[in-house]
Amino acid sequence: MADEHDLPIKGVLSKLSIKDLDIRGKRVFIRVDFNVPLDENLNITDDRRIRSALPTINYAIDEGSKVILASHLGRAKGKADSRYSLASVARRLQRLIKKEVTFLPDCIGPQVEDAVSKMAEGDIILLENMRFRVEEEKNDEEFSKALAKLADFYVNDAFGAAHRCNSSIVGITKHLTSAAGFLLQKEIEYLQGVVNHPVRPFVALLGGAKASGKIDVIRNLEDKVDKVIVGGGMAYTFLKAMGYNVGDSLVENDMLQLANEIREGVVAKGIKFYLPVDCVISQSIEPGAETKLVTTQEIPNGWKAVDIGPASVKLFSEALESAKTILWNGPMGVFEVDAFSRGTFSIAHSVADAYALTIVGGGDTDLAVGRAGVSESISFISTGGGAALELLEGKDLPGLVALTDK
Ligand code: AMP
Repeated sequence: MADEHDLPIKGVLSKLSIKDLDIRGKRVFIRVDFNVPLDENLNITDDRRIRSALPTINYAIDEGSKVILASHLGRAKGKADSRYSLASVARRLQRLIKKEVTFLPDCIGPQVEDAVSKMAEGDIILLENMRFRVEEEKNDEEFSKALAKLADFYVNDAFGAAHRCNSSIVGITKHLTSAAGFLLQKEIEYLQGVVNHPVRPFVALLGGAKASGKIDVIRNLEDKVDKVIVGGGMAYTFLKAMGYNVGDSLVENDMLQLANEIREGVVAKGIKFYLPVDCVISQSIEPGAETKLVTTQEIPNGWKAVDIGPASVKLFSEALESAKTILWNGPMGVFEVDAFSRGTFSIAHSVADAYALTIVGGGDTDLAVGRAGVSESISFISTGGGAALELLEGKDLPGLVALTDK
């Protein structure tokens, strides 16, 4: 029988895994990413990030270790702020894991040390928000040491924060043997392993607001992909660079030359490059605003493209049909507004229906896939927005680099 922690692609990770550690009876500091969205009443609106960390937490408990969990939440700026307390996360975790979770109101100090010293095997402690301490984001040496003092081993399962050079991500690893948790491994296996060694044809489907955020992704993938599809706001920088009049559509004028160079470079390598051929336009992105459907060659001044049109959906969907691997990062339009969501949702269905390994690169795209109702049909949805983009750009993640080599 396959081990439940087996990963689809082996050998990408050169760092220790939690499975390499002898954690029985030991204190294990697990950095998780419990940075969950909250509504105005501080209720958790989506607990996927908590659920994603459960395999690692459950494994550590089953191994008989004492589990100390740490995370950040929201934009706490180095001081305690009740809006960003992890207390409600502790309650949700307790429900999900069906075990008592002791929540501590700080992350270092005598009270925390005392509670940790009294832990029994299988106990779980959740520390208060790391970012209530100004030292965390400074990767402060003394603070890192104080965190390390709490445990015998360090495990990073916080993929969504692995691009941050913080004490609980990087500094602490100087003082403890440090390994990757199952979520971190899975993210790396897909976003680096599959993406760098894809079963071909491999199609990169990119969208979202800005070209500047995604150009380096195209650059990093240009020796691996067979097709690049560009939709969303970023497409209009490419279209304007080609001489189209794009009206008031989102354009980064300082990127025009680079957009042309990238597109021409990709095409010169024999890679197919797709841009929208039609779009839904509006004069504002307010719900209820008047819309028109036009070709991308006839967007009038005063109007902006807010979604791709049906001909683009057909073109992109046909391009996706033969793919064996698909990477999708960025919506095709302003999908948060119902009237402008059709293109994104149609493409979500095309991705979900493709006979391919499908990877969705976090952030807004994962929201779009959820709203389209196709999350279950996607092979892998990343939990990290910024961290996923940095990996796809070919950058090293400080939190991964810092872990102990195998
Ligand atoms: P990103 O974080 O770069 O993936 O961008 C996601 C955002 O891009 C979403 O909030 C969308 O509303 C926005 N977006 C997608 N298409 C467009 C467009 N044509 N014009 C303006 N914003 C867009």
